[in-house]
Amino acid sequence: MRGRRHAEVTVADLTEQVIDAVNASCLRCGDEWQPPITFFPPATTIDKVAALMVCPTCGGRDIEIQEP
Ligand SMILES: [Zn+2]
Repeated sequence: MRGRRHAEVTVADLTEQVIDAVNASCLRCGDEWQPPITFFPPATTIDKVAALMVCPTCGGRDIEIQEP
């Protein structure tokens, strides 16, 4: 997204673009899903969202987030 790093991209940036979910993948089991981000405070960075995510399949916490 315009070359910005995740640390600088916030939930507000994405919802401004009518994006209400991101692509998440688990680095442990490889599962992929699209968690909604609208329940996070707007100032939450994508890095922080990734840190708060838990894999629904294996419970792993090594989650990689990509903007759709
Ligand atoms: Zn997993």
